[in-house]
Amino acid sequence: MVKTRFAPSPTGVMHLGNLRTALVNALFAHGQGGQMLLRVENTDKERSEERYIDQILEDLQWLGVSFDEGPVCQSDRGEVYASYFAKLIEMDLAYPCFCSEQELAIHRKAQLSAGQAPRYPGTCQHLSDEQIALKTEKGIFPTLRFRVPKEKIIRFDDAIFGPKQFLSDDLGDFIIRKNDGGPTFMFCNALDDALMGVTHAFRGEDHITNTPRQLMLLEALDLKAPTYGHFPIILGMDGKPLSKRNGSQSVVDLRAKGYLPEAILNYVARLGHSYESTDFMTTEDLGKNYQLSRVGTAPAKFDLDQLNYWQDTTWQHLSNDAIYTVLQPVMQIVPEDKQETFVQIIKQNIRFAEDAQNWAAKLYGKQVDFDSEALEVIEAAGTTYFITLGEELRSLTPKEALNATKEKLGVKGKALFMPFRIALTGTKSGPSFDELYELLSREAIQARVEQALSANPQPQR
Ligand code: GLU
Repeated sequence: MVKTRFAPSPTGVMHLGNLRTALVNALFAHGQGGQMLLRVENTDKERSEERYIDQILEDLQWLGVSFDEGPVCQSDRGEVYASYFAKLIEMDLAYPCFCSEQELAIHRKAQLSAGQAPRYPGTCQHLSDEQIALKTEKGIFPTLRFRVPKEKIIRFDDAIFGPKQFLSDDLGDFIIRKNDGGPTFMFCNALDDALMGVTHAFRGEDHITNTPRQLMLLEALDLKAPTYGHFPIILGMDGKPLSKRNGSQSVVDLRAKGYLPEAILNYVARLGHSYESTDFMTTEDLGKNYQLSRVGTAPAKFDLDQLNYWQDTTWQHLSNDAIYTVLQPVMQIVPEDKQETFVQIIKQNIRFAEDAQNWAAKLYGKQVDFDSEALEVIEAAGTTYFITLGEELRSLTPKEALNATKEKLGVKGKALFMPFRIALTGTKSGPSFDELYELLSREAIQARVEQALSANPQPQR
């Protein structure tokens, strides 16, 4: 059975990048009839915070991205990690390293200036027991390093990027236990994938160089590695790596702005991945139709217009009940007998719930707000227009009244329609006239024409 995992480090709130990672792991697993595990990678004690774990859980729930196992916290697994450290030490595949940050930095600098990729120079690779005892007595807390095999080629078949290979000598011995005794990400991320039976690990491209190290570790421990799949980075609208400035948004932000979970999912599932269908899909269908072969290797680009397209589209696919729930506060302004009509019509005219709120206020507020632009149209139409229209409305339907006004005054086209539309809503665009007639009661229509009439400048005496 397929088992994926979403393994966030709770050092901040979820942004588009981690959201995409969470989503592809969930879609792939559920599309294949498998499961997703949620693993909280809180090994960085300084930067991990409980409130971020809570927020990630809340975000996932709000989005409707479900997991089947967990959350498992790495902070609860110290004993498991300790037993594997012991195994590696026993096999002489891990050794204590007493090098200070400063010493390591000097080596790094020297290697870089010699044009070499920085890697651990091997200072503590072969310390004798006496040397170790001496350093320990001095009170130096060592890190634990994994002894990388020499001259080994590490090959793997990335689920997205295809065959990859690395040379072990380029990698250098790496730290698996920090000098505070805690495991490093490199170590427990790989170990947990294996111990937890993860079959597929999808993550950001930035982790691709960790993969050969993790594969060597698992091989040393005789554990089965998952299939790794690295997803291309997401660029901002300006082509630069995604950051706050060029479009990166947290799930919290998106939610506060009024984006709907279904819209976000339809958008993010298509970031760097194309479906055969360009139609709106339920989360279930997004999973069933998700294909790794349709994920590109080029960076994905965040596109606000696309996100907005899905936002606008999503309203048309929500059930009335779902819309009622989202628009609940708005509904309180809408008369009960108009609520169903309001939902049906307004969902085609809004991007956010806030827009529905504005429409409700426009349509059902006591008075229409005329801004200066609206007043210009009203003045240009003149009092005769509104007097005539008002009179006709007493006995005719709005449509007939508009026609009669046309006949009587000889106005047509925009000059005929626009002042009426402005009188009804205060704005130049929005629902069609037929829709407005459904949304507004006869009395309201009459009252609004009256209001427009009195908004005209009074004739000079
Ligand atoms: N905790 C890691 C991160 O948030 C997970 C990387 C992975 O998915 O393997 O970047």
